[in-house]
Amino acid sequence: MSGTVPILTTADGTVAQALDAAAARLRDAGVDGARRDALLLLAAALNEELAAVRARPEWVLDGSAQARFDSYVDRRAGREPVSRILGTREFWSLPFAISADTLDPRPDSETLVAAVLTHIGDRTAPLTILDLGTGSGCLLLALLSELPAARGLGIDVSKAAVGVARRNAVDLGLAGRSAFLCAPWGAALAGAWQVIVSNPPYIVSRDIPHLAPEVRLFDPPLALAGGADGLDAYRDLAPDIARLLAPGGVAALEIEPAQIENVEGVLQAAGLRGLGRARDLAGHWRCILAEGPEIPAEWRK
Ligand code: GLN
Repeated sequence: MSGTVPILTTADGTVAQALDAAAARLRDAGVDGARRDALLLLAAALNEELAAVRARPEWVLDGSAQARFDSYVDRRAGREPVSRILGTREFWSLPFAISADTLDPRPDSETLVAAVLTHIGDRTAPLTILDLGTGSGCLLLALLSELPAARGLGIDVSKAAVGVARRNAVDLGLAGRSAFLCAPWGAALAGAWQVIVSNPPYIVSRDIPHLAPEVRLFDPPLALAGGADGLDAYRDLAPDIARLLAPGGVAALEIEPAQIENVEGVLQAAGLRGLGRARDLAGHWRCILAEGPEIPAEWRK
């Protein structure tokens, strides 16, 4: 529709007026980047590209676009993230559907994808990938998008999240190389996986009430709460990872930067061996790479 003027003139106001009013309202509600969010929501309400909306401040909104925009702005003023309002989030330059049952994928988590790709080197290898706590499927599907011969399994304890991840696999054309299962971490699994990734819940539970409303009110508590010291999920996961990682395989785990040594301690206690660390775009440690326990060759089947 870009390039045309699709908007009728039963006017509430122009794009410029709508943006000014919404940005002021969002600013009052404490939203960071109020103007940008107003623009994103207006473009969605108009079903137009951002650039088209930006270039046409004189466009007049019709009643239904105005009503859609008002309801989006109401939700954003209630601190719901734009991604949840629109039901989609870009991750690794791919569009992911999200829902109330999935963590909203963060750019920080792209650190894991990059670290795994760097570590494995040969992108044409027929790797098997396991994603524990897959949520929207973003880690597994981003990896599969870069690794044309790989196959992967995403596990989540939330049945609803598994449904969202499956839908994303279909929409991204990756359903043929992925499967999703509702289960607690790796308990139900066997096998030797060459790549294991996980972004487990790692927020210290008593810190959750102090998080930004966008996180505290809208990310699923199950995807955030890491227990009294933030390490519960790693303690559950580490033995599964040690058991399921193939010789020569790699595990990449997301962490809260301040917890890096504590998480490394939990992994070591399960026999995993550190292979490296990776920083996020802000320069904070965000990812630990580990390999499986040393098992003498004659003990392996
Ligand atoms: N990175 C998220 C946050 O800081 C937390 C996600 C998680 O617990 N894995 O809000």
